Parts: sequence; structure tokens; C-alpha cells
Amino acid sequence: MSKVNPYKSALQQLNNAAKILNLDSRILAKLQKPTRVISVSIPLAMDNGETKVFDGYRVQYNDARGPFKGGIRYHQMVNMDEIKAFAFWMMIKNAVVNIPYGGGKGGIAVDPKKLSKNELEKLSRKFIDLIYKDIGPHTDVPAPDVNTTPQIMGWMVDEYSKLVGKYTPAVITGKPLSMGGSQGREEATGFGGVEILKQVARAAKLKKGATIAVQGIGNVGSFFAELAIDAGFKVVAVSDSKSGIYNPKGLDIKKVLEQKKAMGTVKNYPGTVEVTNEKLLELPVDVLVPAALENQLHKNNAKRVKAKIIIEMANGPTTPEADIIFHKRGIWVIPDVLSNSGGVATSYLEWTQNLSGYYWTKAEVLKRLNVYMSDAWRDVLQVRNQYKVDFRNAAFILAINRIAAAMQDRGI
Ligand code: NAD
Repeated sequence: MSKVNPYKSALQQLNNAAKILNLDSRILAKLQKPTRVISVSIPLAMDNGETKVFDGYRVQYNDARGPFKGGIRYHQMVNMDEIKAFAFWMMIKNAVVNIPYGGGKGGIAVDPKKLSKNELEKLSRKFIDLIYKDIGPHTDVPAPDVNTTPQIMGWMVDEYSKLVGKYTPAVITGKPLSMGGSQGREEATGFGGVEILKQVARAAKLKKGATIAVQGIGNVGSFFAELAIDAGFKVVAVSDSKSGIYNPKGLDIKKVLEQKKAMGTVKNYPGTVEVTNEKLLELPVDVLVPAALENQLHKNNAKRVKAKIIIEMANGPTTPEADIIFHKRGIWVIPDVLSNSGGVATSYLEWTQNLSGYYWTKAEVLKRLNVYMSDAWRDVLQVRNQYKVDFRNAAFILAINRIAAAMQDRGI
């Protein structure tokens, strides 16, 4: 695992793009710091009568293009620098996929698996009590992230609505369908990733039946794998936290998922060879899809990767050192800020439905999402060709240019 401070990496990426763009120094200075950081202490009366105090954060990075937008994560390792970095990357992602939002992120330093349902609900509501004056449908719109669920979003919307005295579903996205969540949100990230995969395959002239390995067959990875097969690709390897499976002839992913549901793992799936999560990354495939955790592709294994194309579906799966190695080896790395932006694009569609009070079918939502994804791909590719940079730098240049234009037009 890389020990790099994520916020330092984010600022480095900003500076690289600023240099290429010859960015106005006043804009660069503003983008080097978040607009607002909120730090709260959340006291929680535990079920056993004890009181514990948890640290909570919300970072509002930049709102030149629209309300701050980004998820809330619950994890024991959450800290301010990490949340600042994620808020910055949300700003970039929202601009790449061209939705009218700025960037934000939040979190609580807590292991939610150690809380009862009652404690989890109280903690979530208390966090909203402490930050509700700083969020709102037109100021800052949170969403789920690591370890936070539609149910938690439901409690948060309910708490916010009570505090402001009116039901306000548009304050948070990723809600349960019963509270104004959007059709299509569940598959949106995998669906968006496969739209990018199709475009990349066309540009790279991949043959029909090109092979794919997916690391992490959770929400994102499973929809990605199923939809990629529907689109004519061959998924030959998948993994979960316990094990990976490989069959060069291809996997019947629906049946693999049935086994995962029944037995909790893909391990020992008939007709496959077992591979570790590390070895899966080095299989002889056309496309590698990290869809689990950050920092999976690093300087020690980047030389051994055989795929020609990497589609980042997880957030931050490639370290900056590995990025350089892949670029030198001519491997295309399609960055997370582009390939997994289908999730936040559908959150935007959820918000617009909440604000208008008019709801679409799943087919209508996915059709709209498709347009966002293919436009984002077209724009990133155009910048890449214009500046002769890799896809990650191209996405950053595109985004910073869009954010800078809004800052300029609003008056720096
Ligand atoms: P998830 O919890 O549903 O799935 C994660 C999967 O990774 C599981 O199959 C798990 O078994 C596997 N896994 C865990 N540890 C692993 C390890 N050490 N090696 C290999 N696999 C391991 O989560 P998700 O929602 O599918 O998110 C996956 C990634 O995609 C995360 O990086 C997340 O931030 C990113 N992402 C998710 C969304 C979304 O809409 N869910 C949107 C954008 C980005």
C-alpha cells in the first residue's frame, strides 16, 4: 500500500494540469485550498450507557459549477486530509462528466460494524444536526460512500427535513426508492463503466470477444461484468476478498454470482483455476478492471501487468508511480474520474427528479446516463489528442478548464 498523503497527490495533479494549461495564477491559488472545511465532534450515547465522541468532517472544495457534491464515508481511518483529497477528486469527476456540481466529501472516523443499528441511526442523525446549516439542495448535496447505505441516507434526509421544517429529499442522493431514490442508481456505476469500455474498445480496435479480468465482484464489479458480457466481451476472471477464479474460455457470470450469493464466495467455482487477487492483476487479458480497493496497481507489479487497457472502476486503484510505468509501456489507463462517474451522474439525475417531482423509468434514466458517459469520453479523448498526454492528465485538464471557466465567468 502506498503511504502517499492523498491530498498531496491531488495537489500535484492540479499543479500538473495548471502548468499545461498555463492556468491563471489567481485561479490556481484558489483551487489549491478547499473553500470550507467543517470539523465536528459527535457525542453518542452507546447502548451500554457509555458516551463516545466521534470525529466527523465535511469538506466543501469548490462550488463554481454548482452545489458541492460528494459522499459521506464511515471508516475508522477517515481523516481530514483524506476527505480534502476526495472532495477535490469529486470536483474533478463532476466536471469531467459535465454535471452542474462542485466537489465535496464527508466522513466519520468510525467502524460502523462495531455499532448496533440503533447507535448507527443516532450517529447519522447527530452528524446531520451538526452540519445541517451548511448543506442543502442548492448548497451541498451528500450521498453514500464506503460503508454508508441508502438506509443511512434515509435517516439523514429525515433528520434534515425535521430541522428545516419541510420534507426535502433533494438534500441527499442515493436514497431508498421509497424516498425519491432514482431507478437505475444501483447499476449506474457498472453501466457507465461499460459504456466507457465500449468506446475504448472501438478506439483501441479491440476484437469482439476481447478478454476481461475484474478484481472485486461487488456492486460495481458485478454489474460491470454482466453488462460487459452482454456487450460481447469475455469475462475470464473475477475475484472477491477471499479468492479469485480464472477460466480462459470465459465465465458464466450469472451462475458465478448465484454461487457467491449462496456460499459467500466465488472460490471453487466449477471449471475454474484459483488465482489470488494479486495474480488476477497479472493475467494475460486484454482489459483489466480493478473494481475493489485503492492502490492495487503499484510500482512493484505494474511491470507484470499484461493487459493493454486498464479501466479504473474502483477509486484510486493505481498509484502515481504505476501510472508512469503504464504510460511508458503504452498501456491505456482510463481514470476513475471518467470511468466510474456514472454513479454521480445518476445521483444528479436523482436530484433533478426530486427537484421537479417528476420521476423517470429505469430505461429513461439509463438512456440519459449513456449520453453523459459518451460525451465525457469524447471530450477526454479530444483533450488527450490535443495535448498528447495520458488519459488521467487529459481528464484533469478538461475538468480544470471547465472549473476555471466558471470561476472566471462568476468573477474570480
Ligand atoms: P462493494 O463493497 O459492493 O464491493 C467491493 C468488492 O471488492 C467486493 O466483492 C469485495 O469482496 C471485494 N474486495 C474487498 N477486498 C478485496 C481485496 N483485498 N481484493 C479484491 N477484492 C476485494 O463496493 P462497490 O460499491 O462495488 O465499490 C467498489 C469500488 O468502486 C470502491 O473503490 C468504490 O469507492 C468505487 N466506486 C463505487 C461507486 C458505487 O456507485 N458503488 C461509485 C464510484 C466508485
